[in-house]
Formats: sequence, structure tokens, C-alpha cells
Amino acid sequence: KVKELKKYIDRETVTSDGYKVCLAANIGNEDDAVKGMKSGAEGVGLFRTEFLFMNGVSMPDEEKQFEAYKKAAIVLKGKTLTIRTLDVGGDKNIPYMGLAKETNPFLGYRAIRFCLGRVDVFTTQLRAILRASAFGKVRIMIPLVTSLEEVLRVKTLLKKVKESLDKQKIPYDKDIKLGIMIETPAAALISDLLAKEVDFFSIGTNDLTQYTMAVDRGNENVAYLYSVFHPSVLRIIKYIIENAKKVGIEAGMCGEAAGNPCMIPLLLSFGLDEFSVSPSNVLETRKNIASWSIREADEVTTSVMAMCTEKEVANYLSDYIAAKE
Ligand code: PEP
Ligand code: MG
Repeated sequence: KVKELKKYIDRETVTSDGYKVCLAANIGNEDDAVKGMKSGAEGVGLFRTEFLFMNGVSMPDEEKQFEAYKKAAIVLKGKTLTIRTLDVGGDKNIPYMGLAKETNPFLGYRAIRFCLGRVDVFTTQLRAILRASAFGKVRIMIPLVTSLEEVLRVKTLLKKVKESLDKQKIPYDKDIKLGIMIETPAAALISDLLAKEVDFFSIGTNDLTQYTMAVDRGNENVAYLYSVFHPSVLRIIKYIIENAKKVGIEAGMCGEAAGNPCMIPLLLSFGLDEFSVSPSNVLETRKNIASWSIREADEVTTSVMAMCTEKEVANYLSDYIAAKE
């Protein structure tokens, strides 16, 4: 099986009828970046930077962050490296940040909310990312957006950081792309408005499923409700991609669903541009994508979108795929 997958390493990611998409890797550090490249990823769709912050006893300074981002950029050799800004809070605590204990951490002070509250931390990270952008094709991605104001505040701050780098004559990519994760129903429902302000979307289905279904993603008692195949989650994903397409920005996905074989026909049919999956799942996903034609994906999707329950969808897709193999 490993041998069979190996032949997909240097291939494009393309459907059986020639529709090309981008297949990227999710990484948490430089080693993952190496793994991602070895397994034939066409870029990095999600660099989770929180591990850099969680591994130490104090906050990594600008230099330390710069070195980490630069290393990853160099490993990628010009392929796109999407660096997500700090996604702290929720289930990810960083002791030295002094975060208060919350009753509902997933609904609390996390990710971009924290970064906009701690502009010092955020500015340091943006400076490090911008500096690393001189060494590769780096993009910035903001997690857990819920409003247009957040995006506008990030843009203002980014502009300030760029101006200060200009003053110091420190090089960076002046055309660096700014994107956001769509992982809350709030962001999804205003994705038409958000699309006009950013260069790309990446759908975070891990959180989007949790927030759409009102199900804590780590709570086993309600895990049966946590499913990307629920018609509400499928509709919201479709809607986000449609809104990205209308404005002509790229729609990607970096949640687990991007590498789920049952989701692939739906995502192809909705028009997803970039699939970002764990390095160990890159080749399998490329093979899965290659097994679909857009016509067949469209047919399956039409059937699925007419279904009323999660069970019906999940059963139909797994049966369909089992029959295909
Ligand atoms: C997601 O929510 O889908 C995502 C990719 O981010 P994380 O899993 O890091 O919250
Ligand atoms: Mg998330």
C-alpha cells in the first residue's frame, strides 16, 4: 500500500477529469514542514504557531519566532507557507500568559480575541512573520474571526508593523497575503462581507463543527453529535465556499474534514481550492482526489445535499466509497 501511494509523491493533485486543486500540509513545527515536503505537499495550509509558545516557560521573543518561521519558509523552498497567528485559549493553555480560568473557554478569550487584547504579543508575532516573509512565500492567517471589525483592526495593526519595518529598513514581502480562518458560524454567515477584506479563507471544520453543532469537541458524552456530515455543517461549508468564489478569493480548508475521504466529493463539487491535511495523510488524499471526476462528485453532492439527517449522509457516503473501492 505504501508503495502504491508513493507514486503520488511528485504528482499534481488533480481529479480524473483534469480539475486541479492544491494539496497542502498542516504543521506545528519545522520537522512537520520537512515531513510535509517529503510526502509531496504543495505547501503548508496551516502552521499552528501555538506549539512554539506552549513548549517554553516564557514567551518566545521576536528573534526566536523569526528563526522558527524562517526555517519553515526555507524548508518550503518557495511553496506557500500559511502561518496562523497565535491560537491560545480554548483547550490550549499557556501558563505564563496568565489567562484567567473561564467557565466556557471555547466561548471565551481565545485566538484573535486574545491577540487583539494583547497587542504587544500580537505585534511581536506579526513582526517575526513579516521578517520571515523575506525568505519564502509566507501568508498570514487569523484564527477564530467573528466580525469585520476584528479583520479591520488586524489590517490596521499590520500596516503599522510594516511601516515600522520600513523605517528600520528590514526586508519583508510587501505583497504578503492576509487570510482568515472561517471556523465560527458568525464568520460563515458574514463571509460575503469578510471576503471583500481578505486574500483567502481557510475553513476550520474542527471548530466550525463544534460551534455550529453547539458541541464541545472534546466532550465524549455529546461526541455523537459532532459530525461534519450534519446537514447544517455541510450547508455552512457550501455557503462559505460560494461566498469566497463570488469575490474571487481562494477557499481552503485546514480542518480534519479536508482529509476525510467521504468529504472529498462534496468539497470538490463545492469548488474548494486548497485541501490542507496532516503530512501523513497527503498521499492518501491525493489518491482519493484522483479517484473522482467532477461529474461524479457533483452527482454525489446533489444527492447528499437533498438528505435530511447526518446518519443518512454519513451512511450514503461511506457505502458509496466502499462500493467504489
Ligand atoms: C480547526 O478548527 O478546524 C482548525 C484547523 O484549527 P484547530 O484545530 O487548531 O483549532
Ligand atoms: Mg480552530
